Amino acid sequence: MSPAATIPRVAGPPPNSLLDKPGEACGVFGIYAPGSDAARLAYFGLFALQHRGQESAGIAASDGETITVYKDVGLVAQVFSENTLSALNGHLAVGHTRYSTTGSPTWDNAQPAYRQIVGTGVALAHNGNLTNTRNLAGTFGDQGATTDSELMTEAIARSVDPNRSDGRELERAMLAVLPSFEGAFSLAVMDQGHLVAVRDPHGFRPLSLGRTERGWVVASETAAFDIVGATFVRDIEPGEMVAIDASGVRSHHPFPKAEPRLCVFEFVYFARPDSLLYGRDVHGARRAMGHILAEEAPADADVIVPVPESGIPAAQGYSATSGLRYVDGLVKNRYVGRTFIDPTPALRERGIRMKLNPLRSSLEDRRVVLVDDSIVRGTTTRQLVTMVRDAGATEVHLRISSPPYRWPCFYGMDTSDRDSLLAAKMDIDEIAAFLEVDSLAYLSLDGLMRATAIAGNPLCTACLSGEYPTDVGDGKFVLEGSS
Ligand code: SF4
Repeated sequence: MSPAATIPRVAGPPPNSLLDKPGEACGVFGIYAPGSDAARLAYFGLFALQHRGQESAGIAASDGETITVYKDVGLVAQVFSENTLSALNGHLAVGHTRYSTTGSPTWDNAQPAYRQIVGTGVALAHNGNLTNTRNLAGTFGDQGATTDSELMTEAIARSVDPNRSDGRELERAMLAVLPSFEGAFSLAVMDQGHLVAVRDPHGFRPLSLGRTERGWVVASETAAFDIVGATFVRDIEPGEMVAIDASGVRSHHPFPKAEPRLCVFEFVYFARPDSLLYGRDVHGARRAMGHILAEEAPADADVIVPVPESGIPAAQGYSATSGLRYVDGLVKNRYVGRTFIDPTPALRERGIRMKLNPLRSSLEDRRVVLVDDSIVRGTTTRQLVTMVRDAGATEVHLRISSPPYRWPCFYGMDTSDRDSLLAAKMDIDEIAAFLEVDSLAYLSLDGLMRATAIAGNPLCTACLSGEYPTDVGDGKFVLEGSS
C-alpha cells in the first residue's frame, strides 16, 4: 500500500475571530458504503460541518487496499478540487474540519492524522481535547506528535497486532488502547477496510450514526446526514465504540461507565440549528432559551434585535413571549470567515464592522433589546453596543441566552485561559458598566436546562458552574495543536 499522500506545507492564517465567541469544536465525518465514491460524499458532509472548523480540512479514503490522505489549511471549498477528490478512491473515508483550540493552524496539525506501522495504516479524525497527553506520550512515545490527535493515532497504530490478520486488527487495537485516553474525544478512525467511531465515556462532543442506501455514515452533527442522503439512526452513546465493515455494525463499550456530559454549548452556540442533539432539535432549544429569558428578565423597550446568526432563535423566542416586535437590526456579511486576511491593528478596532453592519431604519429612536447567545471575552460586545447606539438606538438592553461564562473549558473549546473570561473578573453590574448598556441579564442555569428539555441532566456545564466532570489537574495538558 502507499503511504499518505503529501502536499506542500503551507503556513496558515492566524486565528482571527472577529466576534466574541468561543472557538468552534472540530467536525468529523466517516463513511463506509460499498460501491460509492466515499471521498465525494465525505466532501459534502464536511460542507455541512464547516461551521465547526474553518482553519483546515482533510479527507482520507481507501479502496480496501490503499489509504490516500489529502489535507490543507483553508475552507473545505478551498482545500479540495475536482482533481484532488478524484485521487481519493474507494468506498471508505473519514473527513475533518479543524478549529485549533490552541496554537496556530498549520498543515502538520490538519487532519485526518495518519500513521502506518507494518502493513496497517490508521487515519483518524478527532473532535475534542485529551486531558492526559503527558501520560500517553510517556506510555506510547510521541514520535514527534504535536497534537493530541496524532498521539492517539500513534497509540492506535502501535497497538495493532501484525500477527493477527482476520480483519479485526483495528477494532482490537482500539479496544485495547481506548481505556488509556482521558478527556473529550469523538473519533472517526479507519484502516484500509474498516471504519470505527467512538465517543469518550462522558460524550462531551456529539457523534451520530446514519444509514445510506449502500452503507453507514457517522458525523459530528445530524445535519451532515441530510446532505449525503443518509437517514439518522441514533446517537453513538457516550463510551460506545462502533466498528463498521462488510458484516455490518458491531457495538462495544470499552470504558468503565461514566455520567454522560454532552457540552451544553452545543445547544447554545456550536451546533447547527437543524441538527438533533439527544433527539432534541437545536433550533427549538434556542427558541425556548429566548422564551425563558423573557420570563426571567423582561425589558421595557420597543424592539427585539438579534445578534446574527446564533442569537436569532433566542430573539424570536424572547419576542414571542414578551410581545415586543422582532426586527432585523444587524446585517451579517456572510462571506467573512476565519480565513479572512488579518486586519491591521487600526482596522481591528473596527473589526466587528467587517462582520456586522447596523440597519439604521430598524434602530433609530428605538429602545432596543439586543439578544445574543453568549459573552466570552467581551472584546467585541462593547463595540457592538456602541455601533447600535451610533445607529440611533436610544437605549440598549442586552439579554444573553446562556449564563455567565466564568470557567475555562478543557474539553475542546478555545477558552482555557480564565484571565480572558469577562465574567470571571467582573460581576453583572460591572459587566453592564463595562459594556455601556442600560441593562444586562443572563439566562439562569436552571432556565438553560429547562430549555434543552432533556431529562436526567446529561450535560456538561463546567464553564458556567465550575463543576468539571473529570479531573483537570493544573490544566496544563493541552498540546500546542490540540483540536
Ligand atoms: S466546559 Fe463548557 S464549553 Fe467546555 S464542554 Fe463543558 S459546557 Fe462545553
